[in-house]
Amino acid sequence: MKLALIGVGQAGGKVVDKFIEYDKKHGAEIVRGAVAVNTAKADLRGLTHIPEDRRILVGQAEVKGHGVGADNELGAEVIERDLGEIQGALDMVPSHEVDAFLVVAGLGGGTGSGGAPVIAKYLKRIYTEPVYGLGILPGSDEGGIYTLNAARSLQTFVREVDNLLVFDNDAWRQTSESVTEGFDAINEQIVQQFGLLFSAGEIQAGNDVAESVVDSSEIINTLSGGGISTLGYAESAVDEPKRKGLFSRLSGGGNDADAFDSTDTTNRITSLVRKATLGRLTLPCEVEGTERALLVVAGAGPLLNRKGIERSRKWLEEQTGSMEVRGGDYPRNGSGVVATVVLLAGVTNVPRVKELQQVAIEAQQNRDEIEGESDDKRRNLLGEDNDLESLF
Ligand code: GDP
Repeated sequence: MKLALIGVGQAGGKVVDKFIEYDKKHGAEIVRGAVAVNTAKADLRGLTHIPEDRRILVGQAEVKGHGVGADNELGAEVIERDLGEIQGALDMVPSHEVDAFLVVAGLGGGTGSGGAPVIAKYLKRIYTEPVYGLGILPGSDEGGIYTLNAARSLQTFVREVDNLLVFDNDAWRQTSESVTEGFDAINEQIVQQFGLLFSAGEIQAGNDVAESVVDSSEIINTLSGGGISTLGYAESAVDEPKRKGLFSRLSGGGNDADAFDSTDTTNRITSLVRKATLGRLTLPCEVEGTERALLVVAGAGPLLNRKGIERSRKWLEEQTGSMEVRGGDYPRNGSGVVATVVLLAGVTNVPRVKELQQVAIEAQQNRDEIEGESDDKRRNLLGEDNDLESLF
């Protein structure tokens, strides 16, 4: 699936930069264009792979390249005002070659939190291709303002996109490190998982033709009902079959698949799909009640089989209670693993989102109270109600 990526804010820019790295490393060819948008000059300078003419500094009149702090209302405002400049960078992306747009942002801050929904809304007005969001939730130790920002942004972002894929930093934090220290490792995880999902449907030269290949339209159909989605991923190291030359095949060298026990191959796939679904999801949630799902199994051709995928698909139907579960393979030689990614689209039972909203509502009430109280206290301290006359 070919994507135009738009990274908004620091996290958004870094993750899009990493996507390009992933694309080059794996020859996945999913990134057709990439743009980074930010109010902070230093963040744009820190990027490596996004070309300089696609790094758009917005809000210069308002914040002079220093960022909006964690003020997402200001973030939304300045992005709205500078949409023309963002369109200028998007004009360089060949939209006729793009299957979808993906707007990436951390939802707890200012620029991405406020700006990503504004950009998504704009893209949907201008283009006919689907517009997806990849929203990153803050760690719970980041503080009330980040939670409040994330809850407000999530609510708005999900309304403006065709589907919002969510990654929760809190669920992926290593116990031994703060969220900040772990970002590099977390970003690797993000691009590995979402990269594999979006790679499906792009068959590379030199790889075998899949038995039941996943097409971009299946990803689009799975995401098409809207709402919030999450991913599960699992892989297992394998000894890949040696690719035989034409001669050995013509001389009766047999089929590679013959050398692999099909029961092992099937069992490997079914257990990987279980692990991916029941293990740590990008946004932890209850699997039951998922509206639609898609599973993709990637690996060298002889290590993929239809039986494994069919069984896994049925199992996933039982787990989700959904009648709309798609599945297929993505042949990929040379990775040394069989990997599976499970997309749960339109999830309905997500304790983390409920908790986020609850904490955000409390944070909003606290903020209003504190603001009210400090006005009173300041008036008390400075005695604004006394008879002393100010200078002017
Ligand atoms: P912005 O530049 O104002 O949009 O704000 P940031 O992107 O710096 O931060 C917003 C949120 O994104 C933070 O609350 C963090 O939870 C998260 N974040 C920041 N940097 C990264 C990163 O590199 N990776 C991930 N996964 N999350 C990040």
